[in-house]
Amino acid sequence: MSAEEAVVSVDRLRCAGTGLCAATAPADLELAADGRARARRERTGAVAEVVEAAELCPMEAITVHRAATGEKLAPTW
Ligand code: SF4
Repeated sequence: MSAEEAVVSVDRLRCAGTGLCAATAPADLELAADGRARARRERTGAVAEVVEAAELCPMEAITVHRAATGEKLAPTW
């Protein structure tokens, strides 16, 4: 059985460039040259980190889905 993976996406138009997500999940999120966040890879096994980043984002710009099923993991609103 393979480990759980998640897909992270960033709505770059909503992003305010706080850098919180990149500090929380640096393997998966970074600030691009334009000062807005972007995902660093298509899928990640660091599910807890990206879920935390999505929950912390003040602009609600990050969403995380379970790769296998498409179920939304975060944010939970
Ligand atoms: S935490 Fe949200 S607003 Fe801040 S850089 Fe990441 S995506 Fe942008």
